[in-house]
Order: sequence, then C-alpha cells, then structure tokens
Amino acid sequence: MIYDVVVSGAGPAGSKCAEVIAKAGYKVALIEKDINFRKPCGGGIPRASIFRYYPQLKKLDFVKKNYIAMFSADGHKLEHTFEETDVNPIVVDRLEFDNLIRNVALDAGAELFDKNISYDFIYKDHKKVGIKTKTSSGTKEYFAKIIVVADGMSSKLANKSGLREKWSPLNIGIGKAEILEGQNNLNEKGTYFFFKNYGYGWIFPIDRQKFNIGTITYYENNLKYNVKNLFEKFLQESRNRNLLSEKPYRVIWSAIFPEPATGVLEKSLCDDNIILVGDAAGFVGPISGEGIHGAIISGHIAGETSINALKNGDFTANSLKGFKKHPKIKNIIRLFKFQRKFVNFFYENEGENLNKTFKMVEESEEFKQIVIDVFIFGQTPPKDFISKIKGSN
Ligand SMILES: Cc1cc2nc3c(=O)[nH]c(=O)nc-3n(C[C@H](O)[C@H](O)[C@H](O)COP(=O)(O)OP(=O)(O)OC[C@H]3O[C@@H](n4cnc5c(N)ncnc54)[C@H](O)[C@@H]3O)c2cc1C
Repeated sequence: MIYDVVVSGAGPAGSKCAEVIAKAGYKVALIEKDINFRKPCGGGIPRASIFRYYPQLKKLDFVKKNYIAMFSADGHKLEHTFEETDVNPIVVDRLEFDNLIRNVALDAGAELFDKNISYDFIYKDHKKVGIKTKTSSGTKEYFAKIIVVADGMSSKLANKSGLREKWSPLNIGIGKAEILEGQNNLNEKGTYFFFKNYGYGWIFPIDRQKFNIGTITYYENNLKYNVKNLFEKFLQESRNRNLLSEKPYRVIWSAIFPEPATGVLEKSLCDDNIILVGDAAGFVGPISGEGIHGAIISGHIAGETSINALKNGDFTANSLKGFKKHPKIKNIIRLFKFQRKFVNFFYENEGENLNKTFKMVEESEEFKQIVIDVFIFGQTPPKDFISKIKGSN
C-alpha cells in the first residue's frame, strides 16, 4: 500500500497530524495498535486552546473547571476559584476523547488501520520508505514518502529511528491512574493536586460520581519507590482527608504507565523521510506532566511541515527541518528546558523548596497567581522566582 504519509499511532499527536494532511487532500494511513486502548492519563486539559484545535468539544457536556486546590507535602494549601467561561479547563476520559479526535481525522479523509502494531521501518537504498506492522493475519507493509512516528512513550519506531536513545528510568515519570466511581465529597468543578517528595498525586473529578485519581514518581524516585504502594497510600490519605468515602469504589479502569519527563531535544525530531511527534519525541511538560497539548501542537505542525514537503516533492531532513525550526516548537523546547531546571530545584532536599513555595503562596496573593500560572498553565515564571523562594524561611 502506498501513501503520501504514514502516521504510526492514533492518539492526540497522530490523529491531529493525519487530520491536517488529509484535509489538504493527501493520502494518509493512520496506523493504530488498538482503538479500544484507553491511554493511561489524568485526562486534565487546562488549555483554552484545545477548543481552537477541536471546536467539536464545545458542544459536548464536559464539566467546566473553575476551582483548583494544591497541597504541599508538609500541609500548605493553595485554593483558587476562577471565573467560568465556555473555554475553562476540562477533564476527559481518554477512551472517549481519543475516539472523538480520531474520528475527526477519519472524517477529513485519513484511512485507519486498526489492530496493527508498528515494529520496524522498510528500507530501500538505506532510506526509510515505509513501516512494517504485525497484525493477526501476519505482517503488513505501508509505504510512504513521509513517516510520522506518533505511537507514544513505548514507540518501537522512535527507538529504531536513530534519532534518540531509549528512555532510561531517570528520564521518565511512572504513574498509576484509576477511574473510580461512587459517592465522594469532591468539588465536581475542581481539580486537586497533592505534591509529594517523590512527585505528586492528583484527583480530577470527571462528573459528580466519577473521578480520575493517580500518583506519579519522577527520575531517581522511579527506582526508590513503588508507584502501586504510593497509589494505595494516596487513596487512603484522600479518605482520611474526607475527600473520598470509606466505602469501596467501582473501578472503571486502572493502569500503570510511563511518560517522558525531561523535555524535547531538537536533534531528535526529524531526519530524511521521518518526523517524531507527541510522547514519542518527549512533548510533555516537566512540571505539570501535561502532554495532550504538546502532542496536538506537535502533530499539527508536523502535518503542516509534511504538506510543504509534499508540495515541493522534497522529503529530506533539510526539508523536514521546518518542523523543529517552527517558532511554536522552538518555544516549547525552550520552555521545557527552563521547566526542567525548576523541577530539579523544587525537588532538591526531598522537596524542601516545593514546601517553601507553598508556604509563600499562603503569604502573598501575587505569588499565588504566579504559582498557578507556572504549575497549572505551564507559563514561564519571572526571573526572580527561584531567588525569592531561596531567600524565604
Ligand atoms: C499516568 C499519566 C497521567 C497523565 N496525565 C495527563 C494529564 O492529566 N494531562 C495531560 O495533558 N497529559 C497527561 N499525561 C500525558 C499524556 O497522556 C501524553 O502526553 C499524551 O497522551 C501523548 O499523546 P500522544 O498522541 O503523543 O501519545 P499516546 O496518547 O500515547 O498515543 C499513542 C497511540 O499510539 C498507539 N500505539 C502505541 N504503540 C503502537 C504501535 N507499536 N503501533 C501502532 N500504534 C501504537 C497507542 O495505542 C495510542 O493510541 C499523563 C501521562 C501519564 C502516564
């Protein structure tokens, strides 16, 4: 089968990329391991821009979030209520969300190949000219001028691409997440974060009864702690806080999964005939662990880059470098580098600087707003942010 572009992985990055290319009239194959896979994720989308990328979401009945509560490991609390608009943060169930955005790509003309596991490239004269997949009926081959690797954190293609090293435990976060259902005392319009010395815990209500709950460890802490045990402890702690009830909850879904956590390297993004996007490339914010937004933006720009290459008939690294040179991608790379420094600072001495940060939040409204912008909305903090925290007692 011969395509203009083959996209491996129909998550947020792959579906957006395939949609953009198909809309321009090109032939796109969208390869997916399993459309019934619910990507392990908190499902939190704090960005108004999601409604620009997917106006379809506006019509759906998501609970619009207007309340945030964040707790430091030593008990300081930040609470914030904001105005409700039609573009407030939302929490999605990834099975529903991924199906919705995949269907947008299919409506635009992308061809879906489900139950296909991408595992290697097809080479001709040392050039990547397609991918091989495993299916229940044997191996399949998809030829294309451009290959977009969007099959997430555990991508076999990204590992074989020669563009980057395999992730090590020191480069990632490991999270356990569940969707539980039952009576609770959570504010349905809220999102809750509990910072810990190992990473953080979250509770994101989906509706009155259902909520996504999880814990995540980062870097060295992946080797020190067992995320399953931390999750059980966090669940009990949430019961003790009276946010959750002592009664058992119905477990709708439960999973443990890693996410990239050290940011994106410009040199790992493209080469002759290939672009890496989303988690496969590392587009996850080091402070918030938020990756849906980065996946959609990188997928979108990889789509536009592919269209230009197809128009010019040039699929070399030189032509595809438009992706990594795009101002939005450059901004993300810069922001993540900066955020990584902050993460190192926050978690120094078992998270002592995080505790100090939240103590300062209780003392200053202005500082509180900065912390919300940095932690929730992924913004760049002011230059004196670290020195202020260092100087506090
Ligand atoms: C525990 C946890 C909690 C998180 N919480 C949040 C959050 O609240 N908000 C947020 O913004 N981000 C969160 N993230 C990050 C977010 O889930 C990812 O950054 C995002 O899903 C990346 O999108 P993607 O399209 O790049 O990859 P994925 O969403 O991983 O999509 C990849 C797709 O490729 C398919 N695939 C995989 N392997 C193959 C293969 N070999 N062949 C074919 N198809 C394949 C998969 O089935 C999947 O559909 C969280 C991550 C974790 C681990």
